[in-house]
Amino acid sequence: MGRSPTKQMQHKPAPRQATNRQLDPKLRDLVGRYDHVSGLPNRKQFIEHFHELAQAARPTLIMLVTLTDARHYNEVLRALGIAFCEDLVRCGLARLETLVDPDLTIFHVSLLSFAVTLPVDDTAVVPPVADAIAHAFAQALTIDAIPIRIDVGVGLVPFNPDTGPAESLRAVLVAAQDSRRTNRHVSFYDHKTDAAHLRAFRILADLPRALAADDQLSLHYQPRINLQTGACHAAEALLRWTHPDLGAISPAEFVPLVEQTALITPLTDWVTQRALQQNRSLRDAGHALRISINASPANLSERGFHDVLLGHCDAAGLAPDHIELEFTEGMLATNAGLAIAQLDHLRSAGVDVAIDDFGSGYSNLSNLANIPADVLKIDQSLVRPLTQAGDDDFLLRQVLAIAQGLDFRVCAEGIESEFAFNHLRELGCHEGQGYFMARPMPADRLADWLEAHP
Ligand code: C2E
Ligand code: MG
Ligand code: MG
Repeated sequence: MGRSPTKQMQHKPAPRQATNRQLDPKLRDLVGRYDHVSGLPNRKQFIEHFHELAQAARPTLIMLVTLTDARHYNEVLRALGIAFCEDLVRCGLARLETLVDPDLTIFHVSLLSFAVTLPVDDTAVVPPVADAIAHAFAQALTIDAIPIRIDVGVGLVPFNPDTGPAESLRAVLVAAQDSRRTNRHVSFYDHKTDAAHLRAFRILADLPRALAADDQLSLHYQPRINLQTGACHAAEALLRWTHPDLGAISPAEFVPLVEQTALITPLTDWVTQRALQQNRSLRDAGHALRISINASPANLSERGFHDVLLGHCDAAGLAPDHIELEFTEGMLATNAGLAIAQLDHLRSAGVDVAIDDFGSGYSNLSNLANIPADVLKIDQSLVRPLTQAGDDDFLLRQVLAIAQGLDFRVCAEGIESEFAFNHLRELGCHEGQGYFMARPMPADRLADWLEAHP
């Protein structure tokens, strides 16, 4: 049997001493200039080469060949092991070497990527060697008699000494990755797609500061109207972010990014606490309103999410039936068991659960009856086109019939016209939200709006 974890922690390793396995520093510097798998000059030497090139007068392209994407590489690694993968890299290089002018140096700049600088006449034209490489790698590589299909990417960026070697390598790597989405498997660096990635990265990097600041994030509220009586008993909390440099960023842009990261936990927490505090103030001012909060797939897969939510509710002096939780149904695919258990728990405590954006994306009809929910929100794409009598409402009526047949309370989103409002009421839809009745507004304006719409 192995030692217990406590015993292992008590064991202090002896201070590290140089061993006979360590290289002499001079030798280490030399070896550190070459890739140990291919024996080629590595990124260090590419950087030196880049600085030498800065003196050259000839127009030059930097070409990066990435043998395959990291996910595919990891699958091969898992199935066939490290030695096989090293053979794969060497075999890919052997094919590359038959295509690249032998007078040019190939640099092995990262595990799967090789860089070459090509003197050209015109840096805006794809050099024939790039197409030849893409073409050659359409054939599988055979290693130990196993043919491995690989997904080569060839990126190109004009050499510009002002850009510097690190940024040039990043740009050409982006180009090589983007090239896999094209039939040709060769791409120039495109500032526009890269700018979108950089913006996404910046949004995620800046969110923690926004959560800590008190002047960047806020909530707007959109009234939810009972279509049969015209009364407003509920409002949806919608997040707004005013970034100090980027200005207003739509939740439709940043929420999907945040959902891919652990930041979704503090974000939903921020929204919940703020929405509940503001709901408390509204109630104190005499407006008994249920507040609906958008949760993300990841939130429902977090253990203990329901306890945190009910704890916030209690701390704000609200009852669970003062809140509704909205989520999109597509998410239940991931960790469905835990998500459903938490929804069940919340519902039995009194929280209403709503399925958001129903009828958009991939709504799973067979799953619908198994989801513990009270409300079904019909996606605006089915509602917004309704502007006058005769507009096609076939899908809308079918979705409504399904929702009513399964005993959901139905809320239509995106009511923009008087016609849509009346039509949905006649079809028996219970509730609605939309610009026709009210746009989302800050909390203080909501109080005024409620005064004016008793
Ligand atoms: P959603 O939850 O389906 O919210 C409804 C969206 O439709 C809101 O966009 C709202 O402003 C907009 N809307 C309402 N009525 C109309 C109308 O009549 N016409 C049109 N064209 N649009 C209308 P918003 O505020 O930009 O939010 C977009 C999405 O971002 C939300 O869709 C929701 O999925 C997400 N989101 C917003 N706030 C949060 C939040 O606090 N947490 C999470 N996880 N997601 C949020
Ligand atoms: Mg919603
Ligand atoms: Mg929606």
